[in-house]
Order: sequence, then C-alpha cells, then structure tokens
Amino acid sequence: MKRAVYLETFGCQMNELDSELIGGALRTLGYTFTDQPAEASVVLYNTCSVREHAEQKVWSRLGEMAVRKSREPDLVVGVLGCMAEREGEKLMRRMPVVDIMVGPGELDKLPGLLDNAIRTRLSLLDDPRTQRLASTPWPDRPKTADLLSAGQVALQGNANRRSATLAAAQDTLELLDLSRAIDPETLGGKSAAGKSAYVRITRGCNKFCTYCVVPFTRGAEVHRPPEHIVDECKRLADAGMTEVTLLGQTVNHYRFEHGASVSIGGITQPQKGRAYGVGGDASGDPHRGEHVTTFADLLAMIHERVPGILRLRFVTSFPRSFGNDILQVMRDSPRMCRYIHVPAQTGSDRLLKLMNRQYTVSEYFEFLDRARAMLHQPEIGRPLTIAGDMIVGFPTETPEDHQASMDLLSRARYKNCYIFKYSPRPGTIAIDKYADDVPDAVKRARNNELLLHQNTISEQVGGEFVGQTMSVFVTGMSKLAVRRARPAAAAAASATTGRVSLTISGKPTSSEHSPHTHEHASPDNDDGCSISGSSVMTEQGPRSTLETASATTPASGPVQMAARTEGDVIAFFEMPNRTKAELLIGQIVRLRMTGNQPLALLGELADAVPGQANVQVS
Ligand code: SAM
Ligand code: SF4
Repeated sequence: MKRAVYLETFGCQMNELDSELIGGALRTLGYTFTDQPAEASVVLYNTCSVREHAEQKVWSRLGEMAVRKSREPDLVVGVLGCMAEREGEKLMRRMPVVDIMVGPGELDKLPGLLDNAIRTRLSLLDDPRTQRLASTPWPDRPKTADLLSAGQVALQGNANRRSATLAAAQDTLELLDLSRAIDPETLGGKSAAGKSAYVRITRGCNKFCTYCVVPFTRGAEVHRPPEHIVDECKRLADAGMTEVTLLGQTVNHYRFEHGASVSIGGITQPQKGRAYGVGGDASGDPHRGEHVTTFADLLAMIHERVPGILRLRFVTSFPRSFGNDILQVMRDSPRMCRYIHVPAQTGSDRLLKLMNRQYTVSEYFEFLDRARAMLHQPEIGRPLTIAGDMIVGFPTETPEDHQASMDLLSRARYKNCYIFKYSPRPGTIAIDKYADDVPDAVKRARNNELLLHQNTISEQVGGEFVGQTMSVFVTGMSKLAVRRARPAAAAAASATTGRVSLTISGKPTSSEHSPHTHEHASPDNDDGCSISGSSVMTEQGPRSTLETASATTPASGPVQMAARTEGDVIAFFEMPNRTKAELLIGQIVRLRMTGNQPLALLGELADAVPGQANVQVS
C-alpha cells in the first residue's frame, strides 16, 4: 500500500538535490507527494547539521509529529541526511516517534527502509499484544507513539566516511544519482520554472575545517565518473533544462583517475579523492589528459558535449588549488557563467590557521586577483562576480580579527556574502579544542556589522552594472508581483520567515529566492550552508516554503519579473501582462540595466525576445 509523502528539506543545495533524487525514486515506486503534512501518512525530514539552529527546527517538527502520532498510530516518520548521521540512534531514543533514520551516504536505501517501516507498523498495529497494551487504561498505558516505535529501527546511518577505502567501491549511492528520474514536471530549481537543475560531481569532503561537521556527516570526498556526469547533463538538456549547477563541497578539487577506476556490474564506480596539488597557480597536473580528468577537463567536456545547457555554473569553490586551467576554460567557454562562490571565512590569518583552512589572506587575494585579471570583462557585459561566506565569533576572535574580516570584505568586493555566527558543532575539532568564548551578543553585533558593510559593497558592485546590457535567466514572477496579488499570504510568509522584505521602489532589501542567490545573509540567517528556509516536495517538484504561488497573479496589468545575471545577481524588470510574462520564464533574455538597489538590479528588456515574435516589449 503506497502512501502520500511529505518531504521537507533543510539546508544546502546538496540536500535539495538529494531530496529531488529521493523524490524521484519514491515516485517511481508509486508514492505520491503532498505539501501538507497533515495529509501525509509518511513524513520525511531531510536535515542539515551545519549549524545548531537548523537542527533545532527539526527537533521542533519531531515534537509536533509525536503529538500527532499518538492520534494517528500508523504515521511513519523519517529523519534523513546529516542530522541522522550525526546523532545516530541517540536521536531515536530521544524521539521515539522516529521510525526511519538514513544518513546522507545511505539514501539509496531509503525506499527499502520505508517499505519495511510501513509493513512493520501495520503488523504492529495488528498485533493483539500491541492492541492490548494500547487499551491499557491511563496512566498505566505507555504513550502510543513509544509503544508503536518499539522494534522499528530501520537505521542505516553511522556509515561515517564509508567510501574512505576502495573496498567501498561498490558504491550503490551512485545508483541513486544514475537513476535520476528526469521529468521536466518535477525537476528544477525552486523558482526557475523547471529549467534549472543541480548535478553532483563530488560527494563528501576531506578538508576538515575545524568548525565543520560535513566531513563527518557526508563522509570522504568521492568523485563521480566524468562520463556519468556528462550523460546526466545531456539527459537534463534533452528534458529542456537551460541551466545546470555542478555541486561539490570543494568543487574545484574534482579529479578522476581513469587508470584507477573500478567497474562493477558494468558501472564505473565513483572514486575516492586524493590529496590535491598545492599552490594557487597549479594548473599542471602531470597526469592530466589521457589518465586524469581534472575539473577544468570536466567543465570543457560538459560545455562542448552538451550545447543545450545554456548556463553552466558550479559551487562551492575552495580558495586553494584553483588553477589557471579552470579559469581558462571559464574564459573560453561562452556558456560558462562568470561567477565564483569562494568562501574566505575570516580575514584573520591567525583564525584561518585555527580553522585549518590551509591558506592565508594574501593567498586568498592572489586567487581573487588572478581570477579577475582573467575573467572580469564588464566592457563586453561579462563581469566576474564573486560571492563569499564568512564566520563571525569563531573562538578567540578579537576586535582586531573582526576588523580584519571587515577589511577583507572591503577588498574582496563580493557581489554578496553569506555571514554566519559560529555555531559549535558536536563531533567537530573546534568544539573539542576551543572554548566558544565569544558571547552571543558580540557575535550578533559583529554579524550585523559585517552584513551592513557588505550591503553597501553589494550596492556599489551592482551600481557598476547600471548602463550595461547583460543576459539574464528569467526565473519567474517576482515576489512583489505575487505579493501585489496576494498581500495576506505574502505577509504571512514573511512573518514566518522573519526576512527583510523587498520593495521594488527601493527601500528594504531583497529576499528573492533562487537556487543560488539565497537571502544575503541576514541577522536571522541561521540555517546551515548558504540557503535559509526549507523546501517541500510537491507533485510538481520542490517548492520553497519562502515562495508563494504565482497562480493568483492577475492576467492583466504589468507584472514584475525576476531574473538572474550569469554572475548570479538578481535583476527585476516589468512585462506588460502576465500572459506575455509567462512566455519568458526559464528563458535567457538581454536586459539593459537602468538602476539598482542594495541587492538587486533593475532593468528593461533590450530586445524583442528571440523566438517569441508575439512578445512585444511595450
Ligand atoms: N564547502 C564549502 C566551503 O568550504 O566553502 C562550504 C560548505 S559549508 C557546509 C557552508 C558554510 O557554512 C561554510 O562556508 C561556513 O561559512 C558555514 N559553516 C560551516 N560550519 C559552520 C559552523 N560550525 N558555524 C557557523 N558557520 C558554519
Ligand atoms: Fe569541507 Fe567546506 Fe566544511 Fe571546510 S567548510 S570541511 S571545505 S565542507
């Protein structure tokens, strides 16, 4: 008996992709999805552990489910992703409402575990002993949820760094990526109208930054075979995707050795990462070419072999070992976006050392300068934009260290930067080694100070684009357009998220949500990774809980559209009416930039839309 599933995703792009893959696998098996938890008999949370706040949200959701399960004993609840991996069975002991736990390295097992959990639950409900216990009068009766969770451990977590050896080469997780159900109806970025997709190239991380749980929850770095990646991009292009974003924690460290690859059941297996060459300018991998596919090779392959992908981008880059070979491919490939998300984390060399980031501030700037020298061409409407991440309040951070971070922002001139308060995470090196000695009020004040500084810089960077004509990817109607039509719903949405809201007339800042340009870290941005909020899987694919449906936008009157430049800067423009506006969603058009706000550009269509003779710009 197949059930309706509610799947909510927290955290980063990697989780978004995992949820899409899980969703596809479950749909193939006959499950349906609902965005209303109350309608679901299976509730799954795909979790993030990067910061504590993201986990707290899940604890509170589980508390709600415990109450519900005492009324609906056949409800099945699952915790997927990093929190399952990090907490292990402890989580089930604390929250017996949980039936299934699956770590990010075991997601391919979910369909089997879910089926098992549903069957176990049904047989438990039929069991006369369960019924007898359930009919025991209060207060002797055990709580129904506890009673029915007994013996339902379907845990496959705790597989930390499972692919650390080639003995783990039979990587069944790869099958989940390979079996991706590419369906234009259910695919795609949350606001890119099914035209934007993620493709994983590397799983896990070997960096061990001292504050970070990712190497522990997602395991060792494993690179997917290039042919699998190119094939997936081709299938996405055939399904009508315009934009692909390649994903990896240190995406530029991608490296696949063909001589060492193992084939099992006719499938080339993903490959354990190796220590990568040092040095910023290291483009010369002596084995590159016949035996080794580097990241630069991979980009060139996708660009050449999949011309249907009109925009190719990647996140997240690590500041070390970003060679000129990669920059050259970016420069020479017209469909590669000139955008690099390359977190610095702090402007203090002392703290970089404590964080184990393995570069200095001057090495970081050596890379930014080199990248800009090769790729920044505003004169042809192709500037290079750079985004960053910063952590405030890392242990021992002094006012001088904080000032160094302020200075780094001034010099880096990011188009935006995600700013996080340090959150000590169990299992990391930092929590054991360093006391969390920066008071929360100080973290908050420093966070706000960096944020305000960055907002000024973002506005200046955006101002440099005014007057230019740039191609943009139209992601949908802007939130303002939706809000105009549904003021009450939008007010409710912004009340729940606590975000700064957008006004096109120029006052407060933007919070348009795209697969890449998430909220520019606000003081409330306390979730993991670079995304805030969460998203829910619907029958039509993932939908952000920050989004409101555009279906109620009126058919007549001008409609404000949202788009993204290749450098991932949000741009707004108006279309005369909704019918004409809808024709543009998912397309790439040229905008003449006429103005800007702190976090967004304002523009107007530069041309009649190619291939859309009926769309007249009025
Ligand atoms: N792999 C990417 C890199 O190294 O730049 C980033 C991935 S990480 C999951 C996303 C961001 O979360 C990091 O860049 C860092 O700024 C932030 N982050 C990670 N652990 C954190 C922690 N314990 N407290 C606060 N922020 C953290
Ligand atoms: Fe890896 Fe990034 Fe976490 Fe460092 S911050 S350990 S590079 S995921």
